[in-house]
Amino acid sequence: MSTISERLERVYERVNLACEKSSRSPGDVSVIAVSKTQSVEEIRAAVDAGVTCLGENRVQEAEEKVSLVADDVSWHLVGHLQRNKAKVAVAMFDMIHSVDSIRLAKEIGKRSVQNGETTRVLIQVNTSGADSQFGVEVEETAELADAISGIEGIQVRGLMTIGAFLPDPEEVRPSFIRLRKLRDKIESANLPGVSMDELSMGMTGDFEVAIEEGATLVRIGTAIFGPRS
Ligand SMILES: *Cc1c(COP(=O)(O)O)cnc(C)c1O
Repeated sequence: MSTISERLERVYERVNLACEKSSRSPGDVSVIAVSKTQSVEEIRAAVDAGVTCLGENRVQEAEEKVSLVADDVSWHLVGHLQRNKAKVAVAMFDMIHSVDSIRLAKEIGKRSVQNGETTRVLIQVNTSGADSQFGVEVEETAELADAISGIEGIQVRGLMTIGAFLPDPEEVRPSFIRLRKLRDKIESANLPGVSMDELSMGMTGDFEVAIEEGATLVRIGTAIFGPRS
């Protein structure tokens, strides 16, 4: 069985190859190690091996881990956020990838202001159209970006998507292309306080394709930590 450090090395190699293939600089792609269900020991092993960004999908689970892991890592909330958890979330996470409503954006902003900070957020987009997926509809994303652009306490930094749940990464590519085009469209609107620097897309099964389509943040769990129990 390979170790976390060996698996991480392999992930970096694959990231570099995908960058090479698409004439991108590896420095423009950050790996977020998604540590949901993993123990503090495993997360520490990943940090020791060089991980600097960690992702969790549940606030409560993250709460049990964040203070126990080295404090020079950044934490990303990649899962859905309920408004009543926003206060805890802004205190813990450096970036929230899952804003999909004005109400949630306002709550994150309000709690951030109370803490005297600004929270970086991404708008989560449902690029697959599946009812089961969180995220704002593609057609409504530009409008949401506009509506939340002036909210104090948040800084919109880009878009996030999970993409279609399909085994062949080539079948997920259209989801990633959709997100990139949407990013370009919103960027050209030059909304005050909104930057579209980040595209959070790509997971273990499809991160190479996501990088080819412009991902700046790839969220990788299984390929780093092994299968979740
Ligand atoms: C779990 C999860 C990931 C990582 O998934 P893997 O397939 O294990 O790489 C990425 N993004 C989100 C939103 C997740 O919930």
